[in-house]
Amino acid sequence: MPNDVRYVSTRGAAPELGFTDALLAGLATDGGLYVPAQWPALPPRAPGATYAQRAAQIVQLFIGDELPAATVQRLCDEAYATFSHPAVVPLVQLHHEHFVQELFHGPTLAFKDVALQLVGRLFDEVLRERGQRVTIVGATSGDTGSAAIDGVKDCANVDIVILYPHGRTSDVQRRQMTTVSSPNVRVVAVEGTFDDCQDMVKAMFNDAEFRARMQLSAVNSINWARVMAQIVYYITATDLLAGPINVCVPSGNFGNVFSGWIARRMGAPIDQLVVAANANDILERFFNRNDMSAAAVVPSLSPSMDIQVSSNFERLLFEMNGRDGGLTAEQLQRFRTSGRLSVEADQRAEFIEGRFQAARLDDTETLGVISRTYGESGMLLDPHTAVGVGAVAKLRAAGTLHGTTVTLATAHPAKFPDAVERATGVRPPLPPHLADLFELPEQCTVLPHDLAAIKQFVSTTFR
Ligand SMILES: *Cc1c(COP(=O)(O)O)cnc(C)c1O
Repeated sequence: MPNDVRYVSTRGAAPELGFTDALLAGLATDGGLYVPAQWPALPPRAPGATYAQRAAQIVQLFIGDELPAATVQRLCDEAYATFSHPAVVPLVQLHHEHFVQELFHGPTLAFKDVALQLVGRLFDEVLRERGQRVTIVGATSGDTGSAAIDGVKDCANVDIVILYPHGRTSDVQRRQMTTVSSPNVRVVAVEGTFDDCQDMVKAMFNDAEFRARMQLSAVNSINWARVMAQIVYYITATDLLAGPINVCVPSGNFGNVFSGWIARRMGAPIDQLVVAANANDILERFFNRNDMSAAAVVPSLSPSMDIQVSSNFERLLFEMNGRDGGLTAEQLQRFRTSGRLSVEADQRAEFIEGRFQAARLDDTETLGVISRTYGESGMLLDPHTAVGVGAVAKLRAAGTLHGTTVTLATAHPAKFPDAVERATGVRPPLPPHLADLFELPEQCTVLPHDLAAIKQFVSTTFR
């Protein structure tokens, strides 16, 4: 049924937008994040529907009549044809009542492909219709950059520049970016840290003249369309496993687990959402102790979860505040100045107790889970997935988690071969489509940590 879907900002002071404007805007003008004005209800699955068909049906609810159904279906078909497994996100049984959903069969071997393969195509379609072009600029410490590049590398209307800290990513991660040879892709190794890269990206976005002239855009994890695309696999897991399930999510920015919250809000039979954290445990402390206080980031074996301020948490906070944007903005302002955030007992009773659980694992425990799982089932887990599997084991042992549970496998073990080899003695091979990764020529520009030099590069490289 065609309809007009509107998006509102979590800080309540930005204009309402339709889907395509929210897609291209990323962040709202008041600094908030876009969410739909209403949550749709989950439609039943058509018998025999494929993943791409279920995806098109669900994302259409959030796009409304801004794109025709045939277009949405075509984009979903193309996006999920890039996955190397016919089920796209297969469920594999690990243990009694414990499954993993493998989200890593996309081109860059991490779950971010599920969203970014679709988001890149949505961008290109919308820009083509509008006769516009954008330059996506982003900073990466690993997984996001390669997934974003792969998602847009065939787009006619999108250029992309990704900055990464020179010498500070793994060989696999770097090569996944530098070996893509497309005329619209540039990779820059910055002589600095990840934070330096991120600060320069922010500075480019804050320069209104530069931003407008270059038509800058972003596909970072706060982009609504990424959260939207992730809702689908929670729903397909509940389609396939009878009865209510729990879903455990190795978490960093809270984007993935918030997609699970939406699936449940739409009516998917999800009981508990389990937030799994590494030593960077701000989310675990919030859920278990109502203590959200930022600490310094500690490097871990699961680097894509090395995050202290989880940007997508703002979307849950908005819901906990009864969708009061002013209140949400105030609370976040206090968090920024005091470094602390807590919520009221009635908010915890309504949104958290009996709905979310959390557990954390340090690196030693993570290696133990990889080794034990390999011994028991022969399955190799990457360190992020292992944090999830270990969190489920801890909560089961504590007697708080019961029934069928699905842990999201967020990365392929071959993406983090050193940790896997350390735990098991086995070095996981890259899958066939990436087998030549170490033979392909690399293309990348090394630039100093200097904003003027980076801006000069961005503004001259494509035209
Ligand atoms: C990005 C990422 C995560 C964290 O996901 P969020 O949506 O930021 O919570 C976990 N595991 C892997 C492998 C990732 O790439």
